[in-house]
Amino acid sequence: MALRKCPKCELNYLRGNETICRVCAAEMDKKRRHEPDEDEIIMCTECGERPAVRGKDLCEECLREQKRQADLELHADQVRADEADDPIEEAFPVEDDEDSTD
Ligand SMILES: [Zn+2]
Ligand SMILES: [Zn+2]
Repeated sequence: MALRKCPKCELNYLRGNETICRVCAAEMDKKRRHEPDEDEIIMCTECGERPAVRGKDLCEECLREQKRQADLELHADQVRADEADDPIEEAFPVEDDEDSTD
């Protein structure tokens, strides 16, 4: 069984089914991690610290936070709608203000 040399560095021999040596594989891996030019990885536009969820602009954390905010707003909207539904006369009994005057 003939030893094959790494086609990349031509220094190290390949083992088994390797197409490049471990040194080159590690080097490529390091480079890939250093410069993530794959446009699949988009950083979160909100915090910019975590990669965004695929197809979204935000990371999981921020998405969760956004959802929570949306839920809160939705809830607030419902409360506001409920309040608006109430007849104002009931909320402010103006007819009964005689004993409080003066
Ligand atoms: Zn190599
Ligand atoms: Zn984020």
